Amino acid sequence: MHAYTADDDRIARQITEYCLERLAGEAPLDRPMTPAQLQAETGETVTDQGIGRDEALRLWADVLGPACLSVDHRRYLSFIPNAPTKASCYFDMLVAASNVYSGSWLEGSGAVHAENQALRWIADLAGLPEGAGGTFVQGGTVGNLSALVAAREQARRTRTTRPAQWAVCVTAETHSSVKHAVRVIMDAELVEVPGDERGRMTGAALQATLDGLDPAVADGIFAVVATAGTTNVGVVDDIAGIAAVAHAQGWWLHVDGAYGGAGLAAPSVRPLFDGVELADSFIVDPHKWLFAPFDACALLYRDPAAARAAHTQHAGYLDPVTVEGEWNPSDFAIQLTRRARGLPFWFSLAVYGTDAYREAVEQTLTITRAGAELIRRTPYLRLLVEPDLSVLVIERIGWNASDYTAWTARLLDEQVAFVTPTTHRGAVCTRFAIVNPLTTIEDLELIVASMA
Ligand SMILES: *Cc1c(COP(=O)(O)O)cnc(C)c1O
Repeated sequence: MHAYTADDDRIARQITEYCLERLAGEAPLDRPMTPAQLQAETGETVTDQGIGRDEALRLWADVLGPACLSVDHRRYLSFIPNAPTKASCYFDMLVAASNVYSGSWLEGSGAVHAENQALRWIADLAGLPEGAGGTFVQGGTVGNLSALVAAREQARRTRTTRPAQWAVCVTAETHSSVKHAVRVIMDAELVEVPGDERGRMTGAALQATLDGLDPAVADGIFAVVATAGTTNVGVVDDIAGIAAVAHAQGWWLHVDGAYGGAGLAAPSVRPLFDGVELADSFIVDPHKWLFAPFDACALLYRDPAAARAAHTQHAGYLDPVTVEGEWNPSDFAIQLTRRARGLPFWFSLAVYGTDAYREAVEQTLTITRAGAELIRRTPYLRLLVEPDLSVLVIERIGWNASDYTAWTARLLDEQVAFVTPTTHRGAVCTRFAIVNPLTTIEDLELIVASMA
């Protein structure tokens, strides 16, 4: 099994061929299948003797692969799509084949050094200080959780009294992963700050909420989460206003830019992020709007020592990697073993240069603005939220929930586009999330026409 054979060589070449073909062409959207359909096509694949390389690869190419949607399709506008560069994809193949362990400096110094340069680019865009740093984790969920754990540990260390219950300030639009981390994993309380007319948290609303709180609840607050690009409507909270309140209260400011943080690279929207330089922690997912493959979240701390104090694991067998002054990614998040998941992003940045990133993000913003215009002048549509970034929230006048569902199914069935319903202020609507620089205004026109 471990000895490399001529058969391995042949299949490795076929897999490379398959990857090159997918990278060069435009993959179809494809479609989900039911468990019964898939089982009928694959039969049992895990057997005593194995089904062999050819059959396993055939099943992927003919059955399993086509049952996975092409999230990087130009007209895949659901959730937050992903549009990795060619270089980031093929470097991901190299990362897998090299099997780099990048949990520690001792084992993965070269990988960690390169990842840290990519992190530094993001830290500079955000205006974080020279000493800022962190690591790449699996996604925004793990990034948010790790940052909030560091925040709570800091509060535990520095406070002289214990609150009845720890608490974190959020809004209704704060991502579900933050709420899950706070409520379920950390058993802390959520203090919901009312959003403005577009759902943004402002410093004034945060202060007003604090002023109206039971002092016992207020006493438990250790952090506030500002969202730099809400997932559903793509607007940026009033980070500077929130930072001022957090600073006055001694709270940790975490900025969740999992989706929208990429906007830092685009001069046309950069002012929306003012105040992010004051964050204690910040995340952005390169697998969302920074053109890297799944899965990678850049997690940055203003003061990495605070993260180390929360996350460094101690055990006799780990002591050899815990060397003063060495940058161990495992010190900054809840994970130990780690794939060098920031490397595909780093390679792509190194290959194309940061100007290309700025232009690609601006390109998606330009198409979004043109899309907003298209919706404004389409009589049967209504633009529900003025966009800050690259999400358009749209009502089809006269449609109910089942009309939206039927439309989504039809577009996917005809392999035209993948656009799902969402809700805004309790009402069903749809949204276009545009992170792919290949998406054109003609693509949006095609989808808009399908709603007539
Ligand atoms: C997507 C998203 C997350 C979660 O990130 P994952 O990479 O899916 O774990 C968190 N916050 C925001 C604002 C997001 O858009």
